Amino acid sequence: MCPICLAVPAALKKEHVPNGSLGGSHMTYTCEPCNNGLGSKVEAALQDWFDHAITASFEHDGEVLGRRRVLKIYFRRNEDTGAFALVVDGDVTPDVEQILGSPEFRMRYQEAQQRACGIALLKHAYLAACLFLRSVPDHPEARVMRADLIAARDAPKGQAPASDAAAALKVYRSHVGRQGPPLALVAQQAEDGAAPTFLISLAGVLFVSWPFADLPPGAWQRLRQDAGDDTEEEASA
Ligand SMILES: [Zn+2]
Repeated sequence: MCPICLAVPAALKKEHVPNGSLGGSHMTYTCEPCNNGLGSKVEAALQDWFDHAITASFEHDGEVLGRRRVLKIYFRRNEDTGAFALVVDGDVTPDVEQILGSPEFRMRYQEAQQRACGIALLKHAYLAACLFLRSVPDHPEARVMRADLIAARDAPKGQAPASDAAAALKVYRSHVGRQGPPLALVAQQAEDGAAPTFLISLAGVLFVSWPFADLPPGAWQRLRQDAGDDTEEEASA
């Protein structure tokens, strides 16, 4: 069964959590539409956000008429001085080279699409939480998340719908390369003795908040009992 849309197709595909380019590994299986369809619509946005990559177009008052677009430019800023550099990925066309070589040019740019980025994070957080819970929860929060993921999967590319569940996620970067296991739970102990909160480490490069407010990671045993999972009884019989 696909943990996102709950369909039971003839074949499921290997799903990387997080996406392979972020250092993720094959962790679970999803159906073709949820795997390729949803992935291709939102995971590039997450990668661009992670890489500080922008899409830009350039123009000048010179020989090259009109705007020229460059799909991927890495934005790097020195936080102390505010100076920044734009690093172009790959070759640029002679037109772009000419514009960039002129004394003055204009640039318009577009940052990674926030909604698509949020949906990609929601997908990884949701799938990781299902793995830690060892089940696909039939639970109001989980149902809302699945509906949001399916809506994004079925929306035209670049038009991911708004998702409160995605907006509620907190995300942190480690600023180091891939480290530790592909997925790990990190408990944050509250100083006032309150229950710990949990983050999910995505290959050690990103940390996203545990997505279910009403289902802590420790709920997995109760969920299995509720689901009438009797494999252990059978094994011991
Ligand atoms: Zn699916």
